[in-house]
Amino acid sequence: MKVVLPEALHARPANLLVRLASSFDEDVTLRVREKTASARRILDVLGLSAAKGEEIEILGEGRAWNAIVELVRRGFDADLVPETGAIAAAGIGIGRAHVIERGQADEPESVEAAFARARREVETLVATLPRHEALLFEPELAILAELEARVQERMGEAASFAEAVEIETRGNATDLLLDARARLTARHAPLPRDIGPFVVVVEELTPSLVASLTGPVQGIVASAGGSAEIHGASATSHAAILARSREIPLAFVPEHVVLGIAPGDMVVVDTTEAPARVWVAPSAALVNDAEARREARREAERDDERAEGTSVAHLQVQVKVNLSSVEERIPTGTDGVGLVRSELVFARRGARPGMDEQTGLYARIARRTHGRPVNVRLFDAGFDKPLPWLPVPPDDPDARGVALLLRHPDVLAAQLAAITMAHAADAGVRALVPLVRSEADMEAVHAAAPRGSGLALGAMIESPAAVERVEAIVRVADFVCVGTNDLTALTLGVPRAQPEQGLDARVLAHVATIVAAAHAAEREVTVCGELAAHPEGARVLVGLGVDALSVMPSRVGPVKRALGAATLDACVAEAERALGRVVEDGRLERGGGP
Ligand code: PEP
Ligand code: MG
Repeated sequence: MKVVLPEALHARPANLLVRLASSFDEDVTLRVREKTASARRILDVLGLSAAKGEEIEILGEGRAWNAIVELVRRGFDADLVPETGAIAAAGIGIGRAHVIERGQADEPESVEAAFARARREVETLVATLPRHEALLFEPELAILAELEARVQERMGEAASFAEAVEIETRGNATDLLLDARARLTARHAPLPRDIGPFVVVVEELTPSLVASLTGPVQGIVASAGGSAEIHGASATSHAAILARSREIPLAFVPEHVVLGIAPGDMVVVDTTEAPARVWVAPSAALVNDAEARREARREAERDDERAEGTSVAHLQVQVKVNLSSVEERIPTGTDGVGLVRSELVFARRGARPGMDEQTGLYARIARRTHGRPVNVRLFDAGFDKPLPWLPVPPDDPDARGVALLLRHPDVLAAQLAAITMAHAADAGVRALVPLVRSEADMEAVHAAAPRGSGLALGAMIESPAAVERVEAIVRVADFVCVGTNDLTALTLGVPRAQPEQGLDARVLAHVATIVAAAHAAEREVTVCGELAAHPEGARVLVGLGVDALSVMPSRVGPVKRALGAATLDACVAEAERALGRVVEDGRLERGGGP
């Protein structure tokens, strides 16, 4: 494809072109006269010395080629080349940049006074924030207590207070360390009161900064570089958790992007799809378009919430929720909690949670479900979910799920005791064993549970090996859950499966086998993996005869919508068709049949 250059290829357009080309995997080559250059290399692109009005040939194919042709044709429009980053909280934010610069606090009158003030600040936060947010800051008090002694000691080596704090708060354990450091050594001006819709732009994002945001904050753009990276500029940081709970879109971007945004610049941040995109000083058309997308998204969310009331009684299937925290919304009209990912509820802890704390949290979830069943999954750690307090043993580095728990008998026993106590207060509470391999795993967990507790124990079937032993497993399980995320990955031999891949006939054949074995033993089957949240997946699973689907809260509406209009016969027919299809190259091959 030859295009006449609307502008000479000097630094600005060449930079836009290279940034755009670098965001794709495929390579694109540029040719001007006899010279060629990779579109990813700025010195080569500048070396083309292409002048305005010259013809440039763009060689390549696919999305990268299309994007570069469009960029050149549209006169190197910067709207086409947003900055990119990582998503930490999803949404679309539009507003003027409020750039937060942190000043250095004065050297304190004494270490004791500085720490006393920091503790008072945390106590005030804990007292004034809603309970679920306050909980996030409670560990900071313990951090400050230990830090004080260490800083005192470090000061003895003649370091300044700020240096001592800096040295002692290095580490990647939690962004609460960054929070403590900022509290002790930095000062930033409070937000102006009369500010219009704004996007916060900050180099070092702390949880306290997110907690302090009031007024019309539309989004946050924070640096992923520097110390923020060390302290977890990630979706699991406390700052990200707070941003998500407040529905503030948050993107972590390279440091130079943050440094390049001036106070008052118009900023659009879109974290609805990976990678996060950030436009600085975009055109009015782009802002209008982002506003329209934001409104459409809000409308879709309202629609989904309305759909939560749809009846699916005609299909005799229950719709439950999966929870990863105590505060998550439980839509009304759901039939209980199919899966509490307890390892995520406690994932941010440096040490294992005590029994009383566990009992309290499980009981709180149970109270919110008004007597309906709550399946608390035992800690499912290892592999992609490492937990510092459930390390893998050196002689079995691949241990995960129940295999790993059985290597930590004290953790297992304490968790079973906590679930038993929550069960005594609310009979709906049950325990679920992750990644069961055989009936021996279930028997070992039974043996570790308090005797005569009456606690129901469910088996999660998530591997082809477990499917092979499913008849024996269901005999020693009170109920069954199918983890289609792991089952799909392990069946197809991929590290992580997309929900649609669960529609592969090989996975569905496993589900059919599990349902047959469970029903023969009169055990209920719930599917907890992402396949249950996929509209076609939900119908196919109903067609395969599962008793319940358990999905994240925001998917309850879409799933009920997908099922509400379907008949049981149509679901069975859809399941039969699906049993004849396979996934090729990550895509579901349509057509075919049994
Ligand atoms: C699954 O594997 O489908 C499942 C529900 O467990 P996880 O938490 O591993 O996604
Ligand atoms: Mg799993």
